[in-house]
Amino acid sequence: MSRDARYDILFEPVRIGPVTAKNRFYQTPHCNGMGRGFPAGMAEMRGIKAEGGWAVVCTEEVEVHETSDHSPVVEGRLWDDGDIPVFARMAEKIHAHGGLAGLQPNHSGYTVANHSTREIPIGPGDMPVEPYVPVQARAMDKADIKALRRWYVDAAKRAKAADFDIVYDYCAHNMSMQMHFLSRRFNRRIDEYGGSLENRVRLFREVLEDTKEAVGDRCAVAVRFAVDELMGPDGLTCDGEARDVIEMLADLPDLWDVNISEWSNDSQTSRFADQDFQGDYTAFVKQMTSKPVVGVGRFTSPDMMAGLIRKGRLDLIGAARPSIADPFLPKKIEDGRIEDIRECIGCNICVSGDFTSTPIRCTQNPTMGEEWRKGWHPEVIPAKKTDSHVLVVGAGPAGLEAARALGQRGYAVTLAEAGDALGGRVAAESALPGLSEWIRVRDHRQWRIEQTADVSVYLRSRLTAEQVLELEADHVVLATGARWRADGVGRALTDPVPGLDALPVHTPDDLMAGRLPDGPVLLFDDDHYYMGGVLAELLRDAGRDAILATPAADVSHFTHFTLEQERIQRTLLERGVEIRAQRTLARLEAGGAVLACRFTGREERVACAAAVLVTARLPERALYDALTAEPEALEAAGVKSVTRIGDCLAPGTIAAAVYSGHRYARELDEPPKDGLPFRRERVALPVAGR
Ligand code: ADP
Ligand code: SF4
Repeated sequence: MSRDARYDILFEPVRIGPVTAKNRFYQTPHCNGMGRGFPAGMAEMRGIKAEGGWAVVCTEEVEVHETSDHSPVVEGRLWDDGDIPVFARMAEKIHAHGGLAGLQPNHSGYTVANHSTREIPIGPGDMPVEPYVPVQARAMDKADIKALRRWYVDAAKRAKAADFDIVYDYCAHNMSMQMHFLSRRFNRRIDEYGGSLENRVRLFREVLEDTKEAVGDRCAVAVRFAVDELMGPDGLTCDGEARDVIEMLADLPDLWDVNISEWSNDSQTSRFADQDFQGDYTAFVKQMTSKPVVGVGRFTSPDMMAGLIRKGRLDLIGAARPSIADPFLPKKIEDGRIEDIRECIGCNICVSGDFTSTPIRCTQNPTMGEEWRKGWHPEVIPAKKTDSHVLVVGAGPAGLEAARALGQRGYAVTLAEAGDALGGRVAAESALPGLSEWIRVRDHRQWRIEQTADVSVYLRSRLTAEQVLELEADHVVLATGARWRADGVGRALTDPVPGLDALPVHTPDDLMAGRLPDGPVLLFDDDHYYMGGVLAELLRDAGRDAILATPAADVSHFTHFTLEQERIQRTLLERGVEIRAQRTLARLEAGGAVLACRFTGREERVACAAAVLVTARLPERALYDALTAEPEALEAAGVKSVTRIGDCLAPGTIAAAVYSGHRYARELDEPPKDGLPFRRERVALPVAGR
């Protein structure tokens, strides 16, 4: 297939200072939880992006000095020349596919505590370090500012030595010293670096000029700049100081990479923002500079991308998450394979890897972060080793991905689903408030399966053990999912909650099936991810009064890791959900429930007509138990293996279910390797004398 002429504009080269991007697809800097901790994994992942057609592939933020130590969070690190080989490997991988490599050096100032190095953090003034830690940054004097400028120059030179093509001056997300100096909130200096905008922008400008002087002969110098902080006059605004800054620096950088900040605004989930959600803020930038402009907005639609270029809104289509969900997005557009694009669902599970200091993962792309250590390529999978017939039972995310990937390997696959549609939990959950884009998990796999001759799909087929045996499959994969518990057992309660008969009790499965309780409703959330908060919204939408009680300090606590927690809590409060945090559920009674303070045990009665318990799930393992109870029957039917995957094995995230299905498909008939199921990156012992 060849590409649609409508998208030709996306494949025009763009000059960026002394270098040229081969097309308009630009992977903006993004964290990945690998960086300094898993450098081979990081380099391989970036190289695959270039292979997938991204003309520019950037690093995450790269620490420039030991006073900018993100530990335990894993970022890039370029403290001295010894770190150059890591980035040289990355640049080499990107260049091998004709991409340009971009590096984002950063000093994070007062936003890092330097837990590992124990250096005193520095900032524009004396100020507490941002996370809740008993550490303060000290105010920088002129010698510190001079040293900081030198660290940035050293980092730029190291980037050049590592053969990078683009070096950044980073002033966004409230994560860089340049932004802290620019911000009126943090910069109260009375010297030439404080006060007027001209003074506050000085450091940003100096780093830009220094970097140009140091490496500008061969490297483009880009800026990443926050044009709005969504906090009105307290922050940068696109019609205020941010606009003035762009006017002041207009043509000084070789490229403007612009966004809204902080990170939770820049990487909003689909629950809160649609594609191109930054457009209203960044649109003006093109009018202020003759240099190319990059913007992001979770772009997955090639029509929208081409439209933005045509309208003169952007010169380059920036992407972090769409390039994670589908590293081959540009190539698929180029080859005319639009339907094959694995569109990001905007869930931010990718972000959670950063917060847990672990390699990145993605709901849509199970190979993300596994490119090096497992050798998984997002598009290529080894051909089948045998002519086995595989029966997959259950078409939720795990079963769908297993069937899709087994089909790609060439296996004959039968996929049986009890319901009258594919998708399992994804079909149900995507109907909840704000989660409609999650259906892309199903739609992508369904489409791929429809293109695969050897995968036969049977709907309305709830299989019994006898029926499984009759199908004479060589391998049986059970992806039958899980159901929510109805007894309150979870993290806080290890025994069923007393009084389960006292009033109607509902589970998330009931609500998703349309069985809503009468209000007022007490929702007890001991799950802590999105479900409790989303169901509280659903109840309010249906006109029920709702009280959300949780043992955690705030609602949907895990969503701090997906950058959503504040938006979720704000939404619930604005919708009139009553929130009782740090409470456990003591018992249910006629007409009410009794909550208990987690710390004192003090009890409080809330009046309600029903309870919704969002605590834990149990695997649907009846079919597995029935099959494995009769090993002789399995043998007689020629079944060589019965394997549980996804929620049927252990309930988890949708990302975990997709990964589980993918892993099964990858490993079928593959001889086990020695030791761990993946390659390790080891910390090397120091060379003698160093
Ligand atoms: P996962 O997240 O692990 O993919 P889901 O709960 O999303 O799990 O999907 C499980 C799917 O399995 C559901 O669509 C359900 O209808 C289906 N299912 C459960 N038991 C059977 C069965 N015995 N035969 C066929 N399909 C089943
Ligand atoms: Fe998109 Fe979710 Fe994948 Fe992140 S984890 S890239 S938000 S699909």
